[in-house]
Amino acid sequence: MHKKVYLSLGSNLGERAANLQTAIAEVKNLGEMLQVSSFYETEPVGIMAQPWFLNCAVELETVKMPKQLLAGILRLEQEMGRQRRGDKGPRVIDLDILLFGNSIIDTGGLSVPHPAMHERRFVLEPMTEIAAEVRHPVLKRTMRELRDALPPGQTVRRLP
Ligand code: ADP
Ligand code: MG
Repeated sequence: MHKKVYLSLGSNLGERAANLQTAIAEVKNLGEMLQVSSFYETEPVGIMAQPWFLNCAVELETVKMPKQLLAGILRLEQEMGRQRRGDKGPRVIDLDILLFGNSIIDTGGLSVPHPAMHERRFVLEPMTEIAAEVRHPVLKRTMRELRDALPPGQTVRRLP
């Protein structure tokens, strides 16, 4: 079964744009890439004393099962040299599964929709660009509606 999947990509270490480009190229091995958003420069959330991120979102059509897709993106993070220190600090690349079709998944190690996506401007701005009318299967709101409902704050600048 082909499923439409949305991923969030972020980097705030090294050559951030090159890191996103490398990750996008590698994600193409996990399915058919249908859309890639612009890149956005975004203020860190949580630990503020770290470099700003570049973030984007992509739409992928895949035949993989959710756990297989997760394994694929975790392997890619490893291959790209991500040091996992169990915190929210700087990272070469972070890949998160935002939506997996309309599936609602909450098993050990995988939660979809991503539990924090609806409160993050760095997710909802790129998602509104490529998937404005797609509906969150739990909250029943579109990406645009969720973006418009965010409180002020969390600077996000779309790069040309
Ligand atoms: P974060 O993205 O929250 O900063 P990490 O990238 O270090 O944190 O992810 C930690 C773990 O989160 C991963 O090892 C993965 O098993 C788990 N996880 C749970 N749900 C998801 C999801 N939807 N997308 C990606 N990882 C997820
Ligand atoms: Mg992650």
